[in-house]
Amino acid sequence: MTGRYLLPGRVLTPAHDIPQAAVLVEDGVVTTLEPARSSAGDAEPLTEPGDIIVPGFIDMQVNGLGGCDASAGAAAVRAISARLLDFGVTGFLPTIITRPLEEVVAFVGEVRRADAPGARLLGAHVEGPFLNPRFKGAHEARLMTEPTPKRVDALLGAGPRMVTLAPELPGSLEAAQRLSRAGVLVAAGHTGASFEQAQKAVGAGVRFATHVFNAMVPMHHREPGGVAAFLLDRRVTVGLIADGVHVAPAVMDLIVRARGGAGIALTTDQTAAAGGPPRRYRLGDTEVISDGRAVTRPDGTLAGSAATMDHLVRQVASLAGLRRAVAMASAAPARALKLAGLGRIGEGLPADLVVLDERLRVRVTLVGGRIRVPEGLVSEFRARCSSEHARPCPDTNLDHAHAMFQFYPDP
Ligand SMILES: [Zn+2]
Repeated sequence: MTGRYLLPGRVLTPAHDIPQAAVLVEDGVVTTLEPARSSAGDAEPLTEPGDIIVPGFIDMQVNGLGGCDASAGAAAVRAISARLLDFGVTGFLPTIITRPLEEVVAFVGEVRRADAPGARLLGAHVEGPFLNPRFKGAHEARLMTEPTPKRVDALLGAGPRMVTLAPELPGSLEAAQRLSRAGVLVAAGHTGASFEQAQKAVGAGVRFATHVFNAMVPMHHREPGGVAAFLLDRRVTVGLIADGVHVAPAVMDLIVRARGGAGIALTTDQTAAAGGPPRRYRLGDTEVISDGRAVTRPDGTLAGSAATMDHLVRQVASLAGLRRAVAMASAAPARALKLAGLGRIGEGLPADLVVLDERLRVRVTLVGGRIRVPEGLVSEFRARCSSEHARPCPDTNLDHAHAMFQFYPDP
């Protein structure tokens, strides 16, 4: 259900920062972006004074959320899609970590079959098994394997959107060439690649560095390693888990100074623990423990994150400014995934939008013009609706409630 909505406020497109503007949404599309106005016929106003309108966030690495592990299949992916709207995410790549190839292929199929009531499903991210066991992170080293042509065939047949591999493995450069020619975004990650090996990987089609600095050779001044090669090459977008746990704030600052907002995509690498209380969760086949801030395996290895995208945006905004933070959560991942119509606000583009309040908390998320209000704010919105609009209040008219707000069951 979509309608006519008017969003007055500060707008970050994010190429431009317009202090006073208004976005008009009609039939799921941004039809007008212009200097401020406070009304447009019968268009429903969706913002409060001080609100900021930004493009919907795109998360390229979602292992799970709110108790659901994406690898459980289409139903879990569906539930995650719904819940992501609470955090301003309007597009995502469900991600599977290292598993036997048959399971990975089945997962890609599940993602293709899943429907997305909330955030758009942009395809599957396959992170493993073509990784370097020496940089396994929380993955199971014994399941890692080399990308032989036959295995790459099997994976290509399933149709993943993104594949993370370690470019130094035998067969990886050929795999990167084949995958990138087939339109798959090829990323380097869980890798011990040297500077020179990483340069060759980019030559072979690698265009993304998965969680830069994490599960890679540390950067040394005489052995700069893959990290330096990926940061220096403008063809490569680097993924950054900006939760303050995976990469120290000073290093995040260095990355932002090296690449600005355009070359960095914020990725949560979130697990089922994100959006849930501290306790034990599943990550693929492994049990992980969340303390609410970090997620670890029982041996203490970091295992994905408990962070949500709005949290990462606030972290980076405090370090590098809101416009850069928004670009890193929207325009940069859209560019890396070659999604021309997403990741920015412009006339004629889909209305994938997030309204942030002055403290950068998500107030409303729209996907293709459909609205989702975070759970805690629903009653507040209902109250406002009843006081400001002559037509029946959602409290007394359920049909109107469903027309105005798209409600989704929490997983
Ligand atoms: Zn990883």
